Amino acid sequence: MADTPNSKPSLAPASLAAQALGWIEPTTRAVVPPIHVASTFLRDEDNQFRSGRVYARADNPSYDQVEALLTALERGAGAYVFASGMAAATACFLALDPGDHVIAPKVMYWSLRNWLAGFATRWGLQVDFVDATDLDAIAAAVRPGRTKLLWVETPANPLWGVTDIAGAAAIAHAAGARLAVDSTVAAGVFTRPLELGADVVMHAATKYLNGHSDLIAGALVTAAKDDYWERIRMIRAQLGAVSGGFEAWLLLRGMRTLFPRVEWSARSAQRLAETLRGHPRVAEVLYPGLADFPGHSVAARQMRGGFGGMLSIRVRGGEAAAVATAARVELWKRATSLGGVESLIEHRASIEGAGTPCPSDLLRLSVGVEATDDLYADLDQALRASAD
Ligand SMILES: *Cc1c(COP(=O)(O)O)cnc(C)c1O
Repeated sequence: MADTPNSKPSLAPASLAAQALGWIEPTTRAVVPPIHVASTFLRDEDNQFRSGRVYARADNPSYDQVEALLTALERGAGAYVFASGMAAATACFLALDPGDHVIAPKVMYWSLRNWLAGFATRWGLQVDFVDATDLDAIAAAVRPGRTKLLWVETPANPLWGVTDIAGAAAIAHAAGARLAVDSTVAAGVFTRPLELGADVVMHAATKYLNGHSDLIAGALVTAAKDDYWERIRMIRAQLGAVSGGFEAWLLLRGMRTLFPRVEWSARSAQRLAETLRGHPRVAEVLYPGLADFPGHSVAARQMRGGFGGMLSIRVRGGEAAAVATAARVELWKRATSLGGVESLIEHRASIEGAGTPCPSDLLRLSVGVEATDDLYADLDQALRASAD
């Protein structure tokens, strides 16, 4: 194993991330780890596996450092890297039993909502979708003894509603259920859900953690290494939703710049939100950093150092004007996804399709690390040009 000279708990998270805990590869003294590509590991002559490694569907030495960094940043007991955010999220539900009851938000990451309403329901989970910005609505949906998992996302795609994590944890735990938080948008920087009572944190590592739109990956971090966490480990190993060594290495490389990227994006998003709300072509700006946004006071309590790099705008003139605005940007890239260094714009209802709770005049903005003034100028010209 490796030295960990710079993983003192007294160091700020930004320092831990910049040096990826400061691990040094012991045989070469390299400050960057090698990529492990082996699918299998040698058995000892006496038939043991003293290295702890058997076969790379179960784990990979290239996960060690990134999982240790995720554990440190979220102040958890352990972490697992997955092949995608969806693989990480679905493992949390597949670790339950058919017949168990779960609660999830009405407005949440769309693909996971579809999976819950489709596959998970057919598999036998009982799923209730609630307004997760309202603790009373969550409490009313709990079925004591039957509810096993409360899933929340905060801030939540694509309207950026905020869930009170500590309040949700209290409701879940009183019912004997666990709380899992999709913290993709808080990016492991602004919120630490485990410290607020969550049992598991999920990240679409594809997004901010990697940050360069060149990788699909996911991660879970747990508060406790319990039976549930062991089930999740088995699901990753058995279903095989594993990252390759190169992908895990890329993720670690991306996470070294997590703090400067994400803090820049959040500052820029805050300025854009404040400026865009006065724009004649913008009917509404949705961003937790705006003082009159409905979830702002909860966000201000549980987010430190910023409100993230995601916002949405509703364009005057409805769907046609929104689509026309997205068509006319030049600097912003017209694409789905979020959390990369390049800013993205998306007509969200188009990708979510039938049944979406997303208004048809809404554009979702993922703010990257370009100069804020350039981003604003491009959006401004596109909004004005789409007015005709
Ligand atoms: C992208 C995303 C996911 C899914 O992650 P993938 O890596 O695309 O599978 C889940 N939750 C949120 C909030 C996301 O943005």
